[in-house]
Amino acid sequence: MVTGQKESSGNGGFSLSYDSQCLVCGAAAPGQPVGWVREHEYRTTTSLTFPVVRCPDCRLVYLYPRPDIAELSTIYPPDYYSYHLSMNAPDRTGKRSFVQSLFYRQQRKTLAAKVLPFLKVHAHGRPLRILDVGCGIGSQLDSLKEMLPNSHTFGVEINELAVEKARARGHHVARGRFEEVELPEASFDLIISVHVIEHVARPDLFLHKCRQLLTEDGIILIETPNTDCLDFKLLKNKHWGGYHAPRHWYLFEAETFQHLAKRLNLKILQARSYTSSVFWNWTCHSLMTSVVGRKVADALFPPVTIFYGGIQSFMLLGFFAVLERTLLLLTGKASALWIIFSKGTEETTSDQESAFRVCDSDLREPCQ
Ligand SMILES: [Zn+2]
Repeated sequence: MVTGQKESSGNGGFSLSYDSQCLVCGAAAPGQPVGWVREHEYRTTTSLTFPVVRCPDCRLVYLYPRPDIAELSTIYPPDYYSYHLSMNAPDRTGKRSFVQSLFYRQQRKTLAAKVLPFLKVHAHGRPLRILDVGCGIGSQLDSLKEMLPNSHTFGVEINELAVEKARARGHHVARGRFEEVELPEASFDLIISVHVIEHVARPDLFLHKCRQLLTEDGIILIETPNTDCLDFKLLKNKHWGGYHAPRHWYLFEAETFQHLAKRLNLKILQARSYTSSVFWNWTCHSLMTSVVGRKVADALFPPVTIFYGGIQSFMLLGFFAVLERTLLLLTGKASALWIIFSKGTEETTSDQESAFRVCDSDLREPCQ
């Protein structure tokens, strides 16, 4: 599989990468045209337009071409929200606000419902080893540690400030890109990665590395945007908020993961759709930017500060949460997806549809 042909001429010096085959199933690229996207959240990244295509075989949706990894520091500016995000982090006095406490409780409850049914907590007679890939400041590891107090918590994070904060909270954190960080093979019982796989240059190698690091009876939890939802179907040509352009390079649905699981000798234990109301905020911001301009769009649907709290954020995210929940109830699908893998062989599942059920996990952080 030939991947990552690079080109930097004619794009104002911005380097692009062309993957010549689908990274999930190997089908010839480019796939079928879906739409095109451009940056609308930050002002300092790139003004380029990126075509979106879909593989006809495995339904992987991706930018073609996409930004090259040499442009990571361009498309993730210093004020990138995830570098500063602390939706459930305590303040300097160690206290959480009321809203943060609600969010934290919800995060812990949701995580427990996802992983505990599949996790062999007492099978080894030793503490569980948990790895969070893209751990940010460690808030999710906090939840896991509280859920499983005897566990050992590890993280991988690219941002230096976030690494410092996560370490200060007692977690073992390696700094760098997951693909390049050295970690002991077959040593983690739970590997979790929330809204990271859509950002990486090689999602196939990303998941392969997760498998390498997993113990024989361990599990992997991946969360990512879901293209098998009504709002993607309606808005995929340009404005779907889940594009988070140009930072989401590869987008999935459950069927795409079935192809990838077969290739990597993984088994899908569970695939479920869940709500992500912030995507609707980005959808509205993109639509408003094209209709009435950036200034009004920023005021009505702030694309970055939406995460920083306040009445406007509370009202917007609350409204979009109701909208997403309604769509989930009516269609059985929402704009985010979680998948739980174990080692083993994936077989064609006939009950994929029934695997999607209503869940209770809105207001998740979409990217790390
Ligand atoms: Zn494919």
